[in-house]
Amino acid sequence: GDEFDIISGALDLKRKTVREIMTKIDDVFMLSYDAVLDFSTMSEIRRNGYSRIPVFDKVRSNIVGILYVKDLVLMDPDDNTPLKTLCDYYRNPCFFTFHDTPLDEMFRALREGDKGHLAFVQEVVDDEDHDPFYEIIGIVTLEDVIEEIVQSEIMDE
Ligand code: ADP
Repeated sequence: GDEFDIISGALDLKRKTVREIMTKIDDVFMLSYDAVLDFSTMSEIRRNGYSRIPVFDKVRSNIVGILYVKDLVLMDPDDNTPLKTLCDYYRNPCFFTFHDTPLDEMFRALREGDKGHLAFVQEVVDDEDHDPFYEIIGIVTLEDVIEEIVQSEIMDE
């Protein structure tokens, strides 16, 4: 029954990690810090339909901020406002987590909510050529974790 499926989904949360449920970085809709909020950018944002958009500088692996689409309500595309103006004004905090964080822990962290319900998933890259560094490999939201909890129910349908 439904309750059983939801409980087994919840029990899986301890064994599964964010890596298994994240949205891979190549599939994330982002904007460049250098972008201009003109008609074409605003249309693209609307077309993609996400409520939060990571902002990168120069390369997609260098996340410098996050744009909340709700912060665009008062924007006039004719003003051609640079995205950096908005980013520097709102300074929405970015929340980072490791790829091997168990989902129950991730659920609790995302539910706190003050970080905006979106976390960037990091992995340590450790090869011989340089010192170890963190690389962002995806994003995870509360929605992703909840979907995992009710997953068996969805698979039934
Ligand atoms: P939204 O409120 O923007 O629809 P949700 O938190 O409900 O976002 O997440 C829905 C799905 O979309 C999740 O799988 C999440 O990982 C993914 N997602 C959220 N933001 C983005 C984005 N900017 N680009 C690509 N996928 C995203």
